[in-house]
Amino acid sequence: MNLDQKEVESLNRQFHKSSPLEIMKKSLNLFKNKIVYVSSFGTESAMILHMISEIDKNFPIILLNTNFLFSKTIDYKNELINIFKLNNFLEIFPDNADLKKYDPKDNLWKRNVEKCCEIRKVQPLKKFLENYDAWISGRKAYQGGERIDINPFEINNGKIVVNPLANFEQKLVSEYFLNHNLPRHPLFNEGYLSVGCTHCTHKSSNKNNPRSGRWVNQIKTECGIHYKNN
Ligand code: SF4
Repeated sequence: MNLDQKEVESLNRQFHKSSPLEIMKKSLNLFKNKIVYVSSFGTESAMILHMISEIDKNFPIILLNTNFLFSKTIDYKNELINIFKLNNFLEIFPDNADLKKYDPKDNLWKRNVEKCCEIRKVQPLKKFLENYDAWISGRKAYQGGERIDINPFEINNGKIVVNPLANFEQKLVSEYFLNHNLPRHPLFNEGYLSVGCTHCTHKSSNKNNPRSGRWVNQIKTECGIHYKNN
């Protein structure tokens, strides 16, 4: 199902104050089998994975594996899939031809982070989404930066992006983990409030800005899959 900008705005008016679960259920109803959750298996991913497990354990979930993920993220991914009994999970990898052409020594991240994210995340996701109308993202407004005014529904690169946690309050995250007995990412307790690739993730320097450890000392704040081209 394709929605135009007016329809998306109408959904946002309707679901602005809705719970993440209500937004998820509406999305599944709208997009049926043409929607997928793109999970980072980061520090807060367990919330959406838990909601999916309550709605449909066969819901498609993917991880963009850049080949630079922490081994603890892979362990955590395995743990969550096992706990929630999720049956439809795929790891998506960069195209080998792109790696050979642009990053034969695995050091592009040192020279050009945008290009590195482009071949390791943006292009693999774009290719995967050819068969989908919509995808779910775990972004929240409280993460600040470019996320500060995100809505539950948006259009990006011809696809609908659903942000069930857009208006979720930061103070409720710990409560959600406690109430549902969810395990934390192993790096969370070491001070990593947001986790991506090993090369571009440090401990967060500001607990009120969980993403302060991502691309430290660089202008970059997003990996590129959320850049808007429309
Ligand atoms: S986050 Fe860093 S290492 Fe990972 S794909 Fe982007 S630039 Fe490359």
